[in-house]
Amino acid sequence: MKHADPVIRDLEAIVGQGSVLFDTVSLSHYEYDASLFKARPRAIAFATDTEQVAQLVKYANEHSIPYVARGSGTNLSGGTILKDGLIIEMRRMDKILDIDVDNMTALVEPGVFNLTLQNALAPYGFYYAPDPASQKVSTLGGNVGENSGGPKCLKYGVTSNHILGMEVVLSNGEVTWIGGSAPDTPGADVLGLLIGSEGTLGVATKILVRIMRLPENVITMLTIFNTIEEAGQAVSEIIAEGIIPVSLEIMDNLTIQAVEDSMNAGFPRDAEAVLIIELDGIAEGLEEQADRILELCRKNNVVDSSRATDDQARAKLWAGRKGAFGAVARLRPCYLVCDATVPRVNLPKALSAVKAISKKYDLPIANVFHAGDGNLHPLILFDERDKEELSRVHQAGSEIMRACADLEGTISGEHGIGEEKKQEMGFIFDEGDLQLMRDIKTAVDPDNLCNPGKMLPQAA
Ligand SMILES: Cc1cc2nc3c(=O)[nH]c(=O)nc-3n(C[C@H](O)[C@H](O)[C@H](O)COP(=O)(O)OP(=O)(O)OC[C@H]3O[C@@H](n4cnc5c(N)ncnc54)[C@H](O)[C@@H]3O)c2cc1C
Repeated sequence: MKHADPVIRDLEAIVGQGSVLFDTVSLSHYEYDASLFKARPRAIAFATDTEQVAQLVKYANEHSIPYVARGSGTNLSGGTILKDGLIIEMRRMDKILDIDVDNMTALVEPGVFNLTLQNALAPYGFYYAPDPASQKVSTLGGNVGENSGGPKCLKYGVTSNHILGMEVVLSNGEVTWIGGSAPDTPGADVLGLLIGSEGTLGVATKILVRIMRLPENVITMLTIFNTIEEAGQAVSEIIAEGIIPVSLEIMDNLTIQAVEDSMNAGFPRDAEAVLIIELDGIAEGLEEQADRILELCRKNNVVDSSRATDDQARAKLWAGRKGAFGAVARLRPCYLVCDATVPRVNLPKALSAVKAISKKYDLPIANVFHAGDGNLHPLILFDERDKEELSRVHQAGSEIMRACADLEGTISGEHGIGEEKKQEMGFIFDEGDLQLMRDIKTAVDPDNLCNPGKMLPQAA
């Protein structure tokens, strides 16, 4: 039976009947992502190829309907929340189109999960470096949208360092290729502009990624500290020594407890902080680096250290770290994941500021962070049914951003700005900078329909 709403009928004509969701229950599934924001969209259309995405975008333009591309909706900043908008669901575009070992590239559709790509590359002896903790379910399109990072990004860089080119549906519905396998495309870095633009400048429909050979050797160590500050100081000294491990990840006691309750990853429950250190590269010289790192940890009063003896033990440690956000959900009904970055040397000061804010607002805060990058993730625990508490959470989150900005840091390391931190953009950019970004958005998307209202605060 044909739907009464002509918009739904038209969308079905583009993607096919059964590929548009519009009933109340389905809409309620798409009214949230992993942030605290909620708004009900008008319809969800599942695209299966570039042509369908282009037609959806053209249709949205002709009918002035705001739209947003959505991967798995695991973003933590409200990036895929769009009131009365059209959600272009990308997960059916999930093919790995090519793995080119000679050129060290892979061509993927945007709905491919990060881990699916890693698993497909492993038999060739290759991997894709950015490894967000959400990699089991987050899509390459979403990773591009947020310029995602992960534990390996300390040594290898974030998503933007690993994307060579993209096929993009522009806001007028035209399809274009930006970048490619040849390095150093002349002209302005348009690819760089699109990566991390949170779906506000176009929809990626194919992504050409750089792939890397799996390292010859990997050493993974677990070190235990009596204070989080000492663990942070050890991190600063390791990097100052000129050693760049793949990962330097810290978790505090509250997080350790939650992880152990949830999956028994082998972290000592009484530790105030654990620091996971991973080194990789050619075997020669790696042991010496590990020894030097342990010396620096001893200098900072490390209590104990151990090493993953095989791949299974390594996987167990990483499952604990990558499952930390999920585990923390056991502690209280809700939590807000803050994401800010400070220069590494300022990590101890930033952690003290987080502690003070936790006390001031009377809110427990768990800490998990990519310490090597100075990227903090304070997790503020609360119960959203308590509206007074919720308002304290927002204030505390904003104050953490302010503190990090004041420590010469920035208000997002990897989770984006979205809806959540638009106002805080003023902590790091002046009005001139913000206007330049608004002007770029207007030039690329004159009718402001492509994920409108995200990232940028309204002009004063
Ligand atoms: C438990 C947990 C752990 C996490 N750990 C990490 C982590 O370690 N590192 C990290 O960086 N993030 C992490 N995140 C955040 C999140 O997983 C990432 O931002 C991820 O990249 C989002 O992918 P997604 O497929 O869910 O994208 P979505 O949330 O669906 O979308 C994210 C943004 O990308 C845009 N987008 C999606 N697809 C496209 C496309 N095809 N073209 C253009 N724009 C598009 C959307 O419009 C939106 O603005 C975590 C989240 C959770 C819940």
